[in-house]
Amino acid sequence: MIDALRGIILRRKKYQEADSIVTVLSENGLLKHVRFHGIQQSKSRSTLLTEPGTYVDLRVHFRDEGNGSVKEGSIIDRFEPWKKGYSMLGLLSCFLEFSEGSATSFDSNDLFILLTSWLGLVKPNDQTLSSAQATGMLSAYRIQAMQIAGLIGAQDCAHCGGRIGDRARWEIPEISFVCGACNPDATTEHARFFRTIETMLQTPLESLVAGFHDHGHLKGLEQYASICVRHALPFNSPATDAFTASEKVGSF
Ligand SMILES: [Zn+2]
Repeated sequence: MIDALRGIILRRKKYQEADSIVTVLSENGLLKHVRFHGIQQSKSRSTLLTEPGTYVDLRVHFRDEGNGSVKEGSIIDRFEPWKKGYSMLGLLSCFLEFSEGSATSFDSNDLFILLTSWLGLVKPNDQTLSSAQATGMLSAYRIQAMQIAGLIGAQDCAHCGGRIGDRARWEIPEISFVCGACNPDATTEHARFFRTIETMLQTPLESLVAGFHDHGHLKGLEQYASICVRHALPFNSPATDAFTASEKVGSF
């Protein structure tokens, strides 16, 4: 039976001589693996159809639930600005890697909607992202996804339930904070992390990214956030490790 499969390509793997197997996050939130026969040697079909980070509309012959063979397809959106340059591709890899690793934590299409909102955010005529924006975007995407998946607790002091004031302590590996009265090691820096996370969860994406300026602060937040993501959603993230560890973060 031929089924329609619309979704975002998360990963492409070469298979045998000329085939590609791609992992797709479908519009209804499921991960599918489909095979493009002969696409790498095809003159009539473009390999752009298998490019990671592309929104595609495929006709697939499914043998079982998760695996199928692509008969034809078209591109809905390439999200072109993400494909320009090494830095953007590196950031894109982080978004796609996280999406694949965390997809099974969602029981609806929430992750698909969140991912496409972020991919659609960068427009062709936009200025190059700053390092602060790139770092902030990665943290914000993962933190928003974890909140949707129910992996982030209440936005108050995790001990007394009181308001987080001007001093706080991030209780890694959870994305939760305690107030200055509950923890003598509370700092103003951690209280700022708390407020930035609150902003990441409440501000529309356009205004959110425009407000990412302080790279030192966002890089610090990203380091803590990475520990929490790894704890809540344990899967390998080589792209994200490379992105956050290297000085490339400073060269957007
Ligand atoms: Zn407290």
